[in-house]
Amino acid sequence: MFLLKKVHLNGKEQDILINGNQISCIEDNIENDEAEIISCQGKAILPSFCNTHTHASMMFLRGIGEDKELFSWLNEDIWPREAKLTSEMIYHLSRFAILEMIKTGTTLFADMYFYPQETIRAILDMGIRGAVSFLGMDFFDAAKTDAQYKEMETFLGQKASSDRIIKGLSCHSIYTTSKTLFLKAHELANQYNTFLHIHSSETKQEINDCLKAHNCRPVDLLNQWGVLDDKTVLAHCLHLDEDEIGMLAETKAVISHCPSSAFKLNSGQMDLEKYLDAGIRVTLGTDGVSSNNSLSMLWEMKLAALSAKNKANNILAGKVNDIFHIATKNGFDAFGLNAGEIAVGKLADFILVDLRNVFLMPNHNLFSNMIYAADSSCITDVFCNGVPVMRNKIVPNEIEIIDNFNQIIQFFN
Ligand SMILES: [Zn+2]
Repeated sequence: MFLLKKVHLNGKEQDILINGNQISCIEDNIENDEAEIISCQGKAILPSFCNTHTHASMMFLRGIGEDKELFSWLNEDIWPREAKLTSEMIYHLSRFAILEMIKTGTTLFADMYFYPQETIRAILDMGIRGAVSFLGMDFFDAAKTDAQYKEMETFLGQKASSDRIIKGLSCHSIYTTSKTLFLKAHELANQYNTFLHIHSSETKQEINDCLKAHNCRPVDLLNQWGVLDDKTVLAHCLHLDEDEIGMLAETKAVISHCPSSAFKLNSGQMDLEKYLDAGIRVTLGTDGVSSNNSLSMLWEMKLAALSAKNKANNILAGKVNDIFHIATKNGFDAFGLNAGEIAVGKLADFILVDLRNVFLMPNHNLFSNMIYAADSSCITDVFCNGVPVMRNKIVPNEIEIIDNFNQIIQFFN
């Protein structure tokens, strides 16, 4: 049990009691002898972030092969290195990624990569949450389809050992994964009442190829296949027509908006305001560091806001409340978690920020400061599920995590 004393919440000093994994009481003055007291004078509390699309273990690829054409970058830089990855490496790379996520205030991330059990092991160690998927990508090879489906069944069949882990499935994209695997994965995800994570509508090339092959656009195709529902998470979705916007609003499928990746790969610009006006459940993600190159949701919020205003050619687009909302509550909602707000009964996933940090002064509008000015130095403490994962900027085992990461980097050099 923790008692936060005199923490700023919505511009007012409050006491907040954390009991178990929940925020159990918010009042002007709370006394509790059993709780550990955390003095929060000069600090504000905010919900932590949810990064709804990443490939955490790609940390070792940060900065490799910059400014190259996509296919020479993949063939020369990315795929040869990924082919050498071992499960043990994934564990250490995931821990390093989570270290960056904690320092930048994220307590839930949705991951799509190889060896998901190792990423789960890292999440369990580090204390945050993960929506971790088994990655389906059969390259239209029937033998692989069957093998991957069996692995998906095994993955979901083994119950997660913690409520901080949400196991789900991914089908990489319509250009790498067969309709058969999509249908089977969707059925299996439904059976386990969990999510299906997909890359979709990222580039104009993908749209054109889909039109040629299927005579329809990607989201339309997924809808025809019946794989869109409120547990589908579609990363990117930069290029949607009016019909597809309607399909996502109707099915309540979730979009993971990754503006840094979209700009860096020059793949397009989302009309965020239009999607929000249509009632689509938009969330925010960073994508992997090879196309970002950061896992900071602070950067991502700023780019989402600027991009929304620029795309709509309207200063009223990308409002601070909307941007903060898609980076927090909408993300937790997408994975069925009652978090992303500081209120009684909510899961205790939150950050404390230092109001005396230069980036947060003056404090006319804290959401605005967090979106447009803050960096990770503003975040002093991070709690997940009622437990601190960073106290006074210290994350346990940081040196060991960095040393292990450096050994992997040396192996690839
Ligand atoms: Zn991705």
